[in-house]
Amino acid sequence: MTEPYSGLYIHIPFCLSKCPYCDFYSVKYGNEAAKKYESAVIRNISHYNGKFDTVYFGGGTPILLWKEICSIIEKADIKSGAEITVEANPCLAKEEIFKTLINSGVNRISFGIQSLNDNELKSLGRRHSSRSAVKAVELAHACGFDNISADIMLGTEGQTVKSAAHTLEGLAGLPLKHISAYMLKIEENTPYAKAKLDLPDEDEVCGIYLNTVEFLESKGIEQYEISNFAKEGYACAHNIKYWNCEEYLGIGPASHSFYKGKRFFVKRDINAFCESEIQQTELEEDRLGGAEEYAMLRLRLREGLNLAEYEKRGGDKEKIIENVKKIPYKLIFLKNRNVSLTPEGFLVSNAVIGTLLGD
Ligand code: SF4
Repeated sequence: MTEPYSGLYIHIPFCLSKCPYCDFYSVKYGNEAAKKYESAVIRNISHYNGKFDTVYFGGGTPILLWKEICSIIEKADIKSGAEITVEANPCLAKEEIFKTLINSGVNRISFGIQSLNDNELKSLGRRHSSRSAVKAVELAHACGFDNISADIMLGTEGQTVKSAAHTLEGLAGLPLKHISAYMLKIEENTPYAKAKLDLPDEDEVCGIYLNTVEFLESKGIEQYEISNFAKEGYACAHNIKYWNCEEYLGIGPASHSFYKGKRFFVKRDINAFCESEIQQTELEEDRLGGAEEYAMLRLRLREGLNLAEYEKRGGDKEKIIENVKKIPYKLIFLKNRNVSLTPEGFLVSNAVIGTLLGD
């Protein structure tokens, strides 16, 4: 029997500076540390000896390690035509970098744009401006990237329905195939958690989110997950594996895996990662597993949860059908034995999913 392919996530934990809202694991970039990191990643990839049909370099700021990324791709067993994504910071856009990445097989680039309003970017502590964000996307496209994604943030300091609309309109004029729109979450132990921020109120944030869904769909960029939107055929294949409970291997500190039937993570310590022969993993004990986890992940998707599939995995579909009746009609759909949340439902997804799966 041939081994199935899985996804490969490689965490690149380096940044030029730390944004005040960010909780992702990263350290200050240095040349020497990057080289050491490359060797540790390659060592680990060959240890697991896997075959991959999606690869995702996330961070951190992966593009800082563009040369190392090319060597890593060369050493990994990647299926021909696999989706290979690199996250990029607009302030590091350069023709040489984009062309080299494309030549080494990278076919998807995801820019952390966050906003096209300079006051919002400043509050987020970003190093780029709206102008450099636009130029970065145009340059990537001119260099040959067809599949370009942009991340934006909703509910940030100073943002209004109008300013968010300005960002969306700017993005609509760019050659983008995919947009991720994440709600700002104030994470503990970040400068934002202690700062006095002038954040939009809950009603304004709901308005911003619903307008985002409506606007992007009017431009043919359809919502396929709570925070993700794509033109037809451009949903992120790697991330879809997470929501379908398919296997992926994570390499690097702070990475998570669901690999060979086990869910595990690597602690947030780059030195420990670089110094050990093989990354030290810890099992994720608090994962629900089984039908419940599958349902929770599938309900993040616009496509929703197929009840026959849920039952096959040991779930009680009759209970879900009963629970749907407890949820206001405009938050949820039950059609052809398939349950899915509406955009209004996504705004309160924890409560809706809790009720659906509750006793
Ligand atoms: S938001 Fe991105 S660039 Fe900023 S610190 Fe976090 S990972 Fe680094």
